Amino acid sequence: MRAVQIPRAGGQLELVERDIPEPEPGWVRVKVDACGVCHSDSLVKEGLWPGIEYPRVPGHEVIGVVDAVGEGVKPWKTGQRIGVGWHGGNCGYCDPCRRGEFFGCEVALLTTGISFDGGYAEYMVAPAQALARVPDELSAIDGAPLMCAGVTTFNALRNSGARSGDVVAVLGVGGLGHLGVQFAAKMGFETVAIARGKDKEAFAKKLGAKHYIDSQTSDPAAELNKLGGARVVIATVTHGPAMTATLGGLAPNGVLIVIGAAGPLSVDPILLIAGQRSLKGWYSGTSIDSQDTLGFSASNNVQSMNEIFPLDRAAEAYDRMMSGKARFRVVLQIGAKS
Ligand SMILES: [Zn+2]
Ligand SMILES: [Zn+2]
Repeated sequence: MRAVQIPRAGGQLELVERDIPEPEPGWVRVKVDACGVCHSDSLVKEGLWPGIEYPRVPGHEVIGVVDAVGEGVKPWKTGQRIGVGWHGGNCGYCDPCRRGEFFGCEVALLTTGISFDGGYAEYMVAPAQALARVPDELSAIDGAPLMCAGVTTFNALRNSGARSGDVVAVLGVGGLGHLGVQFAAKMGFETVAIARGKDKEAFAKKLGAKHYIDSQTSDPAAELNKLGGARVVIATVTHGPAMTATLGGLAPNGVLIVIGAAGPLSVDPILLIAGQRSLKGWYSGTSIDSQDTLGFSASNNVQSMNEIFPLDRAAEAYDRMMSGKARFRVVLQIGAKS
């Protein structure tokens, strides 16, 4: 099979021929149709994640078909369309797992494309635990970005504590944010998009935002307060000061949820104390969260906008993603038909 691997930390993406992998007990083999290119793939490329064994095939936004099933796998069958996301698996018996905090697994936390080879390949193997069902009406290309960018925004929003009608702001209208605005609007929130410049306003409103705040020409906190204050701000940008500039716009008990990996955040404690505001992060989700994301997106017509590249141009696709200029996600089309 063809696969694109990273030979060593800091190495270049390279197209190689490899043997098609066999699934061990509890694992399945996936014939990959599409795989999204995510900023977190840079953790593998640059060796920023501890303990990666190289060469490693990156890719954790995978849509494909179950191609072979290892011993003891239930209930998956060959021919089923599935997705594989960031969360590859967890032990199920350590204390955090027993509390349902699977992202905190202390024994066997597996991350797709980091702990084992991911989806920049014609085939991969994945733990059965990592699989999400894909609705028939969702194409592989459309589904792939939902397996990381989608589930992260969807899951952060649905667990944010906001209720229908609450003011919810999405900071940033990029790869994560363009999905976040659609999810927030479809979930019935009074949706606010915040971005730099006037030019994104029409687009944000087309995605479903009721209000738009240009953070370049106005103070986002003051503008949010004019709307009564935000119950939730989801920060998808990668700039700390842009995030904390929204804190004063949170309603009492409002929460700023960080899902963009930014530099250090500097927070005025008074803003937290007065109004009991809080600041938290959100981890993407497990396979059932991804499955819910795919189902919600298909039912409510939430769509990722993608730039599509073939597998043999993965290095170019990766550079395009890293440039920050892609509109909005980059996806590798790998299977014969996606
Ligand atoms: Zn565990
Ligand atoms: Zn990702």
